Amino acid sequence: MGRAFVYVIIGGGVAAGYAALEFTKKGVSPGELCIISDETVAPYERPALSKGFLLPEAPARLPGFHTCVGANEEKLTPNWYKDHGIELILGTRVESADVRRKTLLTTVGETIAYKFLIIATGARARTLEEIGITGSDAENVCYLRDLADATKLVNMMGKCTGGKAMVIGGGYIGMECAAALVINKIHVSMVFPGTYCMGRLFTPKIASYYEDFYKSKGVNFIKGTALSSFMFNSTRKVTGAFLKDGRYLPVDMVVVGIGACPNTSLFKDQLKFENGGIQVNSRFQSSNTSVYAVGDVASFPVKLFGDTRRLEHVDLARKSAKHAVSAIMEPRNTSDFDYLPFFYSRVFSLSWQFYGDNVGEVIHFGDFSGTKFGGYWVNEGRLVGCFLEGGGNEEYEAIAKAIRLKPVVKDLSKLQRDGVDFVNEVSHKPLVQGGGFRLLLKKPVYIWYATSGIVVAASVAAFACWYANKW
Ligand SMILES: Cc1cc2nc3c(=O)[nH]c(=O)nc-3n(C[C@H](O)[C@H](O)[C@H](O)COP(=O)(O)OP(=O)(O)OC[C@H]3O[C@@H](n4cnc5c(N)ncnc54)[C@H](O)[C@@H]3O)c2cc1C
Repeated sequence: MGRAFVYVIIGGGVAAGYAALEFTKKGVSPGELCIISDETVAPYERPALSKGFLLPEAPARLPGFHTCVGANEEKLTPNWYKDHGIELILGTRVESADVRRKTLLTTVGETIAYKFLIIATGARARTLEEIGITGSDAENVCYLRDLADATKLVNMMGKCTGGKAMVIGGGYIGMECAAALVINKIHVSMVFPGTYCMGRLFTPKIASYYEDFYKSKGVNFIKGTALSSFMFNSTRKVTGAFLKDGRYLPVDMVVVGIGACPNTSLFKDQLKFENGGIQVNSRFQSSNTSVYAVGDVASFPVKLFGDTRRLEHVDLARKSAKHAVSAIMEPRNTSDFDYLPFFYSRVFSLSWQFYGDNVGEVIHFGDFSGTKFGGYWVNEGRLVGCFLEGGGNEEYEAIAKAIRLKPVVKDLSKLQRDGVDFVNEVSHKPLVQGGGFRLLLKKPVYIWYATSGIVVAASVAAFACWYANKW
């Protein structure tokens, strides 16, 4: 049994949805495109799962957050795919891939042939078993990667009102789930081995602001240790947790957020890998010219910083998907991908955005006892990254513009004094060489580069502000 398509996408997540929309914009014909997903629903905006989906009042539910509502585009419901002649094969896993023969084999035994393949398999939640602890199968141990996980978490929160939850992990998922648990009137203890939360992005000073805020909401931080094992009752429900430092915590439910692993195993020994992901060029084309990889699985060149990265963030999933489709459908009109890394989060009444790179010296600014503060990262004399809590749309736009320009910073104390005014000034400064803010490239290239950077950055920031408020 088999079928053949011109374009096949494996995975039905964020990148798949945005790729589908772009295919239709570029004129794909009915019957040419197929999406195979092991999830049972059409692609949706995954970040909603740790935000609107977990709210006790008026929670976000499908079809409300199908892609591509997160980018103010059409909402692609199952009917949209039907209307556009796109084959959506749901609840079906691709079991093996043969990139030489250009075929995929699904769990129902169907062989699917393609001319062009886009790998958009995303990542999976890292399990406790992978760090030597058993208990993932317990009914009150939750993960958060897909709709099924989020539904289990919502059901469990409903049963634990007034009870105790343990959140394992101090990263994105841990922080966003801890906030949701509190909002659902559950007492939270967060356990993680680091000395402060969000250790891969935050500085200790930034982290302490969020930790203090969480503490004011009743969250108990247990840092510098880790889960050792669970105590189960006779129905294999977790009733308590032993920590490595000898402490014991009674619990009613557990949320595990200990990282994610890219779903790349189908292509092991068939494609080149890098940074734990599938190596692609600036058109998202892998080491096999018919195969593209986008979103969480792609290790791609970041022109702005001259290296290659694999980023697990929604903005990249959307933009890489669009870019890959453009490279496939209109190769001559598609330039190299030029990405400004952008991350955000929203918890309680707080909301932050980060643009660029968090390397080098950090200069904090703003009012850490108030609601608006941030940090600049200066590397080799240039401004390369900026974090801002509590900013407005125009400020985030200015940050994105300024970071793209990587201005030379001669006086670090000016950054601290000026705060956001610094990026406002840089982003409004005429782009003349030799002025206060020197640019990286020489005329005339720098003018083109800076101008196109501003256009891209402005749209990044405008969308980011809208999106951060939306989901
Ligand atoms: C709860 C949560 C909250 C998040 N919040 C934010 C946020 O606030 N900001 C931010 O920037 N990023 C956030 N992210 C990250 C962001 O959602 C991801 O970077 C993004 O979803 C990646 O898109 P993707 O298409 O590459 O992968 P995914 O969206 O994960 O989609 C991958 C799809 O492939 C399917 N699949 C995998 N293997 C197979 C197979 N063999 N056969 C068939 N189907 C397969 C999966 O089931 C899934 O449907 C969040 C992630 C999660 C889980």
